[in-house]
Amino acid sequence: MAVNVLRVVLGDQLSIGLSALVDLDPRHDMVLMAEAMEECTYVPHHGKKVVLVLSAMRHFAAFVRGRGIRVRYVRLDDPANTQTLAGEVRRAVADLKPSRVVVTEPGEYRVLTGMREWCEGIEILPDSRFICSVADFRLWASQRHGLRMEFFYRDMRRRTGLLMTASGEPEGGRWNFDAENRKRLPADPAIPDRIRFPPDSSTGEVMELVRTRVTGGFADVDGFDFPVTRDQAQAALADFIAHRLPGFGDWQDAMQTGQPTLFHAVISPALNVGLLDPLEICQLVEAAWRAGRVRLNAAEGFIRQIIGWREFVRGIYWLKMPEYGALNVLGAERPLPGFFWNGKTDMACVKAVVQQTRRDAYAHHIQRLMVMGNFALLAGLHPDEVDEWYLAVYADAYQWVEMPNTRGMALFADGGIVGSKPYAASGAYINRMSNYCRGCAFDVKQATGPTACPFNFLYWDFIARHAARFASNVRMAMPLRNLERMEPVRRDTIRMQAAAFLEALQ
Ligand SMILES: Cc1cc2nc3c(=O)[nH]c(=O)nc-3n(C[C@H](O)[C@H](O)[C@H](O)COP(=O)(O)OP(=O)(O)OC[C@H]3O[C@@H](n4cnc5c(N)ncnc54)[C@H](O)[C@@H]3O)c2cc1C
Ligand code: SF4
Repeated sequence: MAVNVLRVVLGDQLSIGLSALVDLDPRHDMVLMAEAMEECTYVPHHGKKVVLVLSAMRHFAAFVRGRGIRVRYVRLDDPANTQTLAGEVRRAVADLKPSRVVVTEPGEYRVLTGMREWCEGIEILPDSRFICSVADFRLWASQRHGLRMEFFYRDMRRRTGLLMTASGEPEGGRWNFDAENRKRLPADPAIPDRIRFPPDSSTGEVMELVRTRVTGGFADVDGFDFPVTRDQAQAALADFIAHRLPGFGDWQDAMQTGQPTLFHAVISPALNVGLLDPLEICQLVEAAWRAGRVRLNAAEGFIRQIIGWREFVRGIYWLKMPEYGALNVLGAERPLPGFFWNGKTDMACVKAVVQQTRRDAYAHHIQRLMVMGNFALLAGLHPDEVDEWYLAVYADAYQWVEMPNTRGMALFADGGIVGSKPYAASGAYINRMSNYCRGCAFDVKQATGPTACPFNFLYWDFIARHAARFASNVRMAMPLRNLERMEPVRRDTIRMQAAAFLEALQ
């Protein structure tokens, strides 16, 4: 049967309301979905990330077919598969000769550039699954001198009406309860485990495929248990709201050995492939607060992450690419040490996060930012290598969200576009927010000497290395003053120890 419109759906576009699908005519149109080896291997993705995308794609294709829609689905092991998205679109166009080819804009600049060349006249539609469109963010940014998430977030609150009073004021009289999100965990916290989804036969098949065909990735697929359908993703969200959201507000920044999830949602893998909708998530969280099931600091803190940070970093990505991907204002040139991949280090905090990341393809925000990102910042690791690592190892990683978080928030390689100051911290921060230091070969109280915590001497070395650049940043005044007050001998000893440590890293 002839095809009128060929509608291409990518692996992170698994939403029935996708702009490329909304006006689909089941009698004349066809959906194209293709598993491409190029996409599975352009960075050494965690095996569980590849399983998530491929399994969720297969389940989505089955769901779409169940609605009477024709789907041309190309599996990774199909002998005719060209293993690139471009190749599969061209092959489908040659076979089906559709009158139009329609696709929703992708989440990565790399794919957008290639997409324009997929076939003549390809129609690329805006991605309506975000609250703020790329065009709206551009307009918002054009009206401001500095782009600060907090002001963007307030606009998103006004626009969505989330946690707003009838008279247009923020509920609770404040926009932000951030200061109430940083409590230390009690000694023996009761942490509800997250709901897990054992693989069905379709996911099992994908796991075997990835195990045998997609080699060279960061870690293997064993123990895969992420949601792969919309029903499962909704169940995971409901489980979070009922059991962990109440603790999210207080302990958002905490870290604990052997507790990878704590009170976090672990919804980003499902959300970023399209199985959940950001506004729907926030409305459910708001409803839980209005029903008195969670406190305002939990609901506000969580909603801020989604309509604030998530939308903000996406806006920044599309506003600043492709130049953003080359920014390295601190001139960080050091290669990534091997322990980022294998976890072989005596630093208990880094070891715990890498081991957890290998096992789960997940780490929560503070682990990503204040352990791995902080180390990469202080040690001056090259942003390209750090970017590639984050893109590869986390199941929720797509460049639109990964890059501004890594290059901007964690590495300050963008000179302050995402954050107004570097998130640099000594071991004292990690010690305050976790129990990692108790089991560490290093002493978090020492800044020099054979057992000194590397985060301590690296922190002061970082401040000293970039003192001239930070001199005009009022938010860096305190550490610069403390550095100045330091005995010159102590400063020299710290810097020598940092130099020796960094030399040995290589
Ligand atoms: C260096 C670095 C790299 C990161 N890379 C990614 C990435 O590739 N993909 C990704 O989705 N997030 C990334 N983040 C943001 C954040 O760490 C994850 O979204 C979060 O850990 C996902 O786990 P969760 O669902 O349990 O989140 P929760 O802590 O429960 O938060 C709820 C949701 O808020 C959103 N969110 C929270 N913080 C951010 C943020 N800074 N930017 C964007 N969305 C946010 C996510 O959708 C998340 O699912 C990164 C952060 C850092 C510091
Ligand atoms: S002592 Fe330093 S290296 Fe060890 S866990 Fe604490 S912060 Fe990490």
